[in-house]
Amino acid sequence: MIDLRSDTVTKPTPAMRRAMAEAEVGDDVLDGDPTVRRLEAQVAARLGKPSALYFPTGTMANQAALWLLGEPGTEVFCHDDSHIVNWEIAGTAALAGLQVRAVRGGPVLTADALRAAIRPASVHAPRASLVCAENTHNGAGGMVTPLAELRAIRAVADELGIPLHLDGARLWNASVATGTSLADFAACAATVMVSFSKGLGAPVGACLVGDAGPMRRAWEVRKRFGGGMRQSGILAAAALHGLEQHLPRLHEDHTRARHLAARLAAVPGVEVVPPDTNIVMLDLVAGQTAMGVVERAKALGVLCTPWHATRVRCVLHLDVDDVAVARAGEVLAEALRP
Ligand SMILES: *Cc1c(COP(=O)(O)O)cnc(C)c1O
Repeated sequence: MIDLRSDTVTKPTPAMRRAMAEAEVGDDVLDGDPTVRRLEAQVAARLGKPSALYFPTGTMANQAALWLLGEPGTEVFCHDDSHIVNWEIAGTAALAGLQVRAVRGGPVLTADALRAAIRPASVHAPRASLVCAENTHNGAGGMVTPLAELRAIRAVADELGIPLHLDGARLWNASVATGTSLADFAACAATVMVSFSKGLGAPVGACLVGDAGPMRRAWEVRKRFGGGMRQSGILAAAALHGLEQHLPRLHEDHTRARHLAARLAAVPGVEVVPPDTNIVMLDLVAGQTAMGVVERAKALGVLCTPWHATRVRCVLHLDVDDVAVARAGEVLAEALRP
């Protein structure tokens, strides 16, 4: 089976497993795990922020940021199709006490759409306390928000006097695709989440990075959420290995995504969203259903995701090589036939 459902399906390589087995460890809740400390220092340096904190998942790190930066009983601006709105089980409401002000208009958040969603000040209407952006944007097919747009979003947040959190689960991909440094992207936001379990190929984990103010309380919030881990250096070693060995190869996933998109562009009945990074979205325009296409592809040996009723998502990653992507192209072309 060729598995294109997500870049989370990668299995740790033998070299990553060796790095994990040999990691120097300590009790991270008690007095710090040396490998976790090394990872946090390296991630803070790469993103140009004073501080980084290792989390078991990106979801917990996003939720911690919402909790830290948002004010209960106010609104958070999020793109309508963002991970925080769609895939975190309404943690905004259940944990942070925030109401989502879903921003529509365009496949990703823009400064113009954000500005249009601002409510006129009124004692009868909710205030907003936070803006969240996502880069790259998963629901939009791994689309990059360029630095100039992210800066414009930050400028709107500044006008409102509220902070910006960046869900940068795949910020690595945005940086590789554009040549914009991670630090330039990160400078736009008060806090940034980056994930190790997507393109970098680690089994789990994420970091929240940020300015000194919010990060002083992040350790406490992580502990309260049940995210204090002990000999977590075993996991941090996988993330360090991913940064050293797999970040430099991320461009290969982008090239393969373009190859897959080019192969399928000529197939009747499908509109391919041109990929910025490692995700290829296939829009079905001849009456096929995503479920039908996914089932046919599965029977032929390729797994992909029915993103919604008429959209199929294919994700390139570490465990899909040139031979596999060529084969996946032929199988999908067959499965997409109306
Ligand atoms: C995967 C993902 C997350 C959550 O990360 P987990 O480690 O799976 O909890 C958050 N945001 C985006 C955009 C993601 O793709």
